[in-house]
Amino acid sequence: MTKTSTIIEKTEQFGAKNYHPLPIVISKAEGVWVEDPEGNRYIDMLSAYSAVNQGHRHPKIIQALKDQADRITLTSRAFHNDQLAPFYEKVASLTNKEMVLPMNTGAEAVETAVKTARRWAYDVKGVADNQAEIIVCENNFHGRTMTAVSLSSSEAYKRGFGPMLPGIKIIPYGDANALREAITPNTAAFLVEPIQGEAGIIIPKDGFLKEVREICTEQNVLFIADEIQSGLARSGKLFACDWEEVEPDMYILGKALGGGVMPISVVCANRDVLGVFEPGSHGSTFGGNPLACAVSIAALEVIEEENLVKRSHDLGEYVMEELRKIPHADIKEIRGRGLFIGIELHVPAREYCEKLKELGLLCKETHENVIRLAPPLIISEEDLEFALSKIKQVFA
Ligand code: PLP
Repeated sequence: MTKTSTIIEKTEQFGAKNYHPLPIVISKAEGVWVEDPEGNRYIDMLSAYSAVNQGHRHPKIIQALKDQADRITLTSRAFHNDQLAPFYEKVASLTNKEMVLPMNTGAEAVETAVKTARRWAYDVKGVADNQAEIIVCENNFHGRTMTAVSLSSSEAYKRGFGPMLPGIKIIPYGDANALREAITPNTAAFLVEPIQGEAGIIIPKDGFLKEVREICTEQNVLFIADEIQSGLARSGKLFACDWEEVEPDMYILGKALGGGVMPISVVCANRDVLGVFEPGSHGSTFGGNPLACAVSIAALEVIEEENLVKRSHDLGEYVMEELRKIPHADIKEIRGRGLFIGIELHVPAREYCEKLKELGLLCKETHENVIRLAPPLIISEEDLEFALSKIKQVFA
C-alpha cells in the first residue's frame, strides 16, 4: 500500500461521500506546483476553484498570516479589531462601493446578499411583507447552503433537501428579455454570475450585462454580481463585470479574497443598500476576523503588485489561441476569458482529466463534458508551456 492509497482509503471510510475527487493526495505545494506523498509533482490547473489565484503559499500572504497569528486571530464582532478597518478600506476602494459586510465562505456571502436584497425590498423599495422575489439564472452555482440550493436549477443539488426557499424565479442565462419579463413590482434583485464557472465557463453574449444594468436601473431592481469565482483577476479583468464596463449594485466576493489561505467573503454595496442592517440583524462569529482580514489585505495587494489582471488576460489569450490549434474530433469548443478557460468536449471529460493527471497536470471536469483550465495566475510562461505541451499530448 502506498501512502496515497492508505490516505484515500481512510478518507473514504470516514468521510461523507459528497465529493468525487481524482485519486491523488496533495501533501505539499508552492506556487503552481503541488506534490503527493510519493514526491510526484503536478501543476495545479484548478487553483481550488479559483481560490488560489495568487498561487499556493504566496510568501507575502504567508508572512501576513504568521505576523497576524503572532498578534491576535479572533475577537468576534463583540469587540473591534485593528485589521477590519484597513480591510474594509481596501475592499471598498477596489469595488468602488461605500460599504462592506464580511463573512467566511462564498455561500454565506450569497446568503447575506439575498438577505440584504430582501430587506432592501421591504425597507427601501416598499414591497409588501414576505413578497420579495429574487431572479436567478438556469445552471447557476451560488453554493450549497439551503438558500444557495434553493436558487439552483439542478435537481442533483436539491434532491432530498426540500422544502426550498420560496420567492425565487429562474430565467435562461444571458437572456435579457426573459429578465424583463420576469420582473414584477415585488422583484428585489437579479443575482447572476457574470461568467458561469461551475456550469462550464459559460460566457453570456456580448451586451447582456449592459442590458441587465439598464433593466435593473429602470425597474428599481438590485443587480447582484456573484464574482466569487470570476472576480479578483481570474477572468483577465479585476471583475468579470468589467468586460462590459458595468457596475453592479452589489458584488459578492470570496475564494481568492483569502489568497487560498483563509476563508473570507464579502458583500459590497453602497450605503442605500447595505445600510439596511442594524445591530443584531445579521452576523458571523468568524466574519471579519483579524487573521482573515490581514491575510486578505496581503492577498489583494499581491493581485495589484504582480499585475495578475493583465497576466491572466494576456496568458489566457495565448493559451486559447494555442488550444484552438489542436485538431481533435472530441473537442467541441474552446472558450474563456483570461485564465478562466473551458475545453468543451463531445465526450465525458473525466477520462481526459485522469490522463492529464498521469502527465503531471491536475484538472477537474466540470459539468461532465468540460475540462476547466484555471491555473494560479502567477504561473510562469515556462510552466504554462509545460502545461500546454501536456494538453497537446493528451489530444495527440
Ligand atoms: N458562487 C460561485 C459563483 C461559486 O463558484 C462558488 C463556489 O464554487 C460559490 C458561490 C460558493 O462558494 P463556497 O464554496 O466558498 O461556499
